[in-house]
Amino acid sequence: MPTKMMMVLIKQMFRKPYTNRFPVKYAPKDVTGLIQKVLRGEVKIHPPVPVPEDFRGKLAYDPERCIGCKMCIRVCPANAMEFIPETRKIRHYVARCMFCALCVDVCPGKKLPGEEAPVKALKMSEEFLIADYDKYSKNLVEE
Ligand code: SF4
Ligand code: SF4
Repeated sequence: MPTKMMMVLIKQMFRKPYTNRFPVKYAPKDVTGLIQKVLRGEVKIHPPVPVPEDFRGKLAYDPERCIGCKMCIRVCPANAMEFIPETRKIRHYVARCMFCALCVDVCPGKKLPGEEAPVKALKMSEEFLIADYDKYSKNLVEE
């Protein structure tokens, strides 16, 4: 006699998976081959799901709005910020960042001509595709 658990398992077999199979709908055997197929248009990239509101992705830094106050360096628990004395701006190491947004909270930012209020130099972006072979690559060091 089928148990309640067996019924649940049978139902589950006919349901679609809830996970988003990103970047493709199957596990590729060879990533390089997959990239070449994508470039030739033979395989379509399965888009990532949209991120929710207030998502904390890769930190975005706008040096034009930075006043060099070092507040972000003081609060950063991961030591992911460095001050550049020559320019009085900061350098951010994404590979050290733990996406807490404390630096964003304290950043006073700067008011540019024509603006009514200062805008922060730091903000959490929606970008999360940040895997890289080199933790000091251009993609992972912002200044
Ligand atoms: S988000 Fe957090 S860990 Fe990352 S740089 Fe800002 S304060 Fe540091
Ligand atoms: S807190 Fe903001 S304005 Fe101050 S140094 Fe950091 S990025 Fe620049």
